[in-house]
Amino acid sequence: MPEIVRGIVARSVKAPVELVDIVIPDPGPHDVVVRVQACGVCHTDLHYREGGINDEFPFLLGHEAAGVVETVGDQVGHVAPGDFVVLNWRATCGECRACRRGRPWYCFDSHNASVPMTLTDGTALSPALGIGAFADKTLVHERQCTKVDPETDPAVAGLLGCGVMAGIGAAINTGAVSRGDTVAVIGCGGVGDAAVAGARLAGASTIVAVDRDPRKLRWATEFGATHTVDASTEDVVERIKELTGGFGADVVIEAVGRPETWKQAFYARDLAGTVVLVGVPTPDMTLEMPLIDLFSHGGALKSSWYGDSLPERDFPVLIDLYRQGRLPLDKFVSERIALDGVEQAFAAMHDGAVLRSVVVW
Ligand SMILES: [Zn+2]
Ligand SMILES: [Zn+2]
Repeated sequence: MPEIVRGIVARSVKAPVELVDIVIPDPGPHDVVVRVQACGVCHTDLHYREGGINDEFPFLLGHEAAGVVETVGDQVGHVAPGDFVVLNWRATCGECRACRRGRPWYCFDSHNASVPMTLTDGTALSPALGIGAFADKTLVHERQCTKVDPETDPAVAGLLGCGVMAGIGAAINTGAVSRGDTVAVIGCGGVGDAAVAGARLAGASTIVAVDRDPRKLRWATEFGATHTVDASTEDVVERIKELTGGFGADVVIEAVGRPETWKQAFYARDLAGTVVLVGVPTPDMTLEMPLIDLFSHGGALKSSWYGDSLPERDFPVLIDLYRQGRLPLDKFVSERIALDGVEQAFAAMHDGAVLRSVVVW
């Protein structure tokens, strides 16, 4: 039987989001209904609301979530009712050209639910990143559910579903930071601080955090930064070089997504070092640089989508590390809010006052 629950919907460009009734249809053969327990507020939700992703309104927002599987389609074998899961937007297909070549973290045909959730008048909803979890319940493909230790606080676990995984993965998977490396992270919001935490987990010897906001530099120190650079008063490239023996860092992670900060990342790395772009640029941004510099500095210039993560591999491990006290995931939860607080949380995020506001049920 289809069910009516509450959900946060963006109906049109820049209009405030609304808490409305939505319809969860019966799950298709490989779909599952998840009772959502927590869902973080991410910049991507705001991008959808602003019309920055596409114009397939109305959107059902929310995608950094954890909850309990409630009902399953008749072919589901990956999870069962009662399982505690983190939702992901990379449910690898196993069939696309990336999956077939053994690079499933690039999967180009990730699974989603087979039937749409709707408004009560039947209008199909576009779920943010194929999830849509600012709702009492949501419908996803079974492989969008990753089982993790059920003793974990859902508000903490759910954050692995997007931004925190993107940052940790940018350091560990894309940047391949390893013991003794020097690392710099430019931009210390949720994703950047997660990159700092990832670099620490990987054994980096020096971790330089760069931001213009002293609050964010303080947060970065709590996640493991060994040095901070205030980009509003200091020369970022020169300072990173000074702090890395005059050479530049082995891996520089750009978590802002702007041409000027990407250039800083490029010039602040050691010869043959790696630049990882995990900040998301807007379509109007362009980059002009001497091509000879790209050649003469060598190394790797990479982009990191979702931290090159594989949810089934990475989520359970990171939860275990959190539970062992080796990864302070709980520090990303700045405030816990109710489902009707999403619009206010967008404002707090815009002001840089929070790392993550998390809706909890
Ligand atoms: Zn695939
Ligand atoms: Zn996100």
